[in-house]
Amino acid sequence: MKKIIFWLAVSFLFVGCAGGPDRSESLIVIDAGHGGGDCGALCGGKQEKDLVLQITKKLQREFKRKGYRVYLTRGDDRFLKLGQRTKIADKKDAKVFISIHANAIANHERFDLVEGVETYFLQKTRDARSQSIAARENAAVLQGTDELSKNVIIDSVLNGPKIIQSHKLAIDVQNNIMKNLNSRYTDVKNGGVRPAPFYVLVGASRPSILVEVGYITNSKERKRLFTSDYQDKIAKGIVEGVSRYIDNRKREVGF
Ligand SMILES: [Zn+2]
Repeated sequence: MKKIIFWLAVSFLFVGCAGGPDRSESLIVIDAGHGGGDCGALCGGKQEKDLVLQITKKLQREFKRKGYRVYLTRGDDRFLKLGQRTKIADKKDAKVFISIHANAIANHERFDLVEGVETYFLQKTRDARSQSIAARENAAVLQGTDELSKNVIIDSVLNGPKIIQSHKLAIDVQNNIMKNLNSRYTDVKNGGVRPAPFYVLVGASRPSILVEVGYITNSKERKRLFTSDYQDKIAKGIVEGVSRYIDNRKREVGF
């Protein structure tokens, strides 16, 4: 009898400890940028659309391992129109929306001088660098949209607590990507958290960020970006950042 009570107590303790936070309520939508006829940035025979899909698949596995539910806007090589990506997040009632991209610069002479990881949240900005990166990423999704419509789209979402929450989410994700990458690659540049008018984030009525995982135009970074180890560390960092953000919000407001 004593033995039975002992094992009951042990199993109760074990279940109690192993429980941890219940994450099955939290759906994460991951958006691999570009796809299909839109290759995104191209350099050294490598395409942004392939890289971001590889990282997205790793993210899917890592989020699931942690107990989250996951939905991908694309799980293969296809193009989605503007609005389709964030509409999916709204329809599925996602907790957060994460769009994955890789960066590029136009000036060939500076290819190996510009590198690093940056995380963006939606906001108008006067910063020329953020504007030019947003313009490149926006080009494909905005085909056929006139200037007036573009401004209406952006203005319709620029106020409200969503921006503050997206900013907080961006900080947690950026910090954790850097922590994971720097554990082995100590020279990765922290490009920080930045506001930019990315149209892919418009319409998502939940915390939404866009991660530029590195510069495909930088030869050192391009080589690393296409290795499984580097991609694993990026994915782990994003998942840790999102978990930290969600756990903190839960403590604050029952998010
Ligand atoms: Zn992109």
